[in-house]
Amino acid sequence: MARPLLAAGDAPYRAAQARDWFWRRRVSSFEEMRTLPAATRSRLGSAFRFSTLHVRRRRQADEGLTAKYLFGLEDGRTVETVVMHYPAGAGRRARTTICVSSQVGCPIGCSFCATGQSGFDRNLTEAEIVDQLLEVSRHLTLEQRAVTNVVFMGMGEPLNNYGPVVGAIRRWSRSDTLNFSPRRVTVSTIGLVPFIERLGAEGMPVNLAISLHAPDDALRSRMIPVNRKYSIASVVAAARAHANRTGRRVSYEYVLLAGVNDSLEQARRLTAVVRHPLSHVNLIPMNPIAGSALAPPSRQQALAFQGVLQAAGVSTTIRATRGLDIDAACGQLRAREPAVTAGK
Ligand code: SAH
Ligand code: SF4
Repeated sequence: MARPLLAAGDAPYRAAQARDWFWRRRVSSFEEMRTLPAATRSRLGSAFRFSTLHVRRRRQADEGLTAKYLFGLEDGRTVETVVMHYPAGAGRRARTTICVSSQVGCPIGCSFCATGQSGFDRNLTEAEIVDQLLEVSRHLTLEQRAVTNVVFMGMGEPLNNYGPVVGAIRRWSRSDTLNFSPRRVTVSTIGLVPFIERLGAEGMPVNLAISLHAPDDALRSRMIPVNRKYSIASVVAAARAHANRTGRRVSYEYVLLAGVNDSLEQARRLTAVVRHPLSHVNLIPMNPIAGSALAPPSRQQALAFQGVLQAAGVSTTIRATRGLDIDAACGQLRAREPAVTAGK
């Protein structure tokens, strides 16, 4: 925080108390910081914004296991954040993953993604990214739950907003804030090579997910314009360097599009591209987006595609879709409701 938290005359331990209320107990207002004198609370309230976000709408799906937040920003724009609960099972502990946004819209313009098709508005600030985790954590604290994992798979390309994204991951990892380890954070990227390299040099054991989606450059460039700048070979080399440097596994995301990238021959080519001891492939049957003829393959075709990868020893899962009926699934975030008016 650039400005001092306390005014002259406040006892020095009051700053630690205020931080404790804010980050650890996660109260929802300065008034709730009960151990602070009333004058300090009201001075904090007039000197600082408590949050850069406010909840405009919250919708639930999957019998309460998925929730989508539509947050209003101070300039009237909106951004979406998705929370997914995964109950314990088969040797796995229960998890709560939050899917955060890094930009309002996205400048990359991938053909299969609603965010990309809706254009780019602006980068989020570090505070707006941190506040997504904080706002959700406040709600979960009331339900005696907590976020266990953060994925940058909401709106935007995180490495296109590098400083605020890395700043947020550092901010919430500090022991005097949320103590939220980078090991529990995954940055998903379309493959901006110089920034993958920079991320590796940060000394942060953050997980990397590469949105690959095609086994050859000709097809990938048609789906993802920025592939003309950073070829598959250069993206995969940067991802491997990250894995070797951090010891963290790299996952490759592959949106399955019927008749486009889902043939068994393409699965064989993909195997050759990604094969590496620290890699994992997530197959995502495409979630439908308005105004697009692109569609997911049949379940049978997705399983056959997965079978080719597995037979070659590549660890692969087909990702279960969450929040389809509330437009909260991967690639569906567009923040178009309710209509944005103020500030635009
Ligand atoms: N810009 C980053 C992170 C946000 S997108 C990236 O592209 O990696 C998060 C994930 O959703 C990416 O893997 C993206 O490719 C995927 N995705 C985009 N549109 C999708 C759709 N219509 N159906 C399924 N997944 C989609
Ligand atoms: Fe942007 Fe990722 Fe969507 Fe591509 S898939 S348009 S990079 S948010």
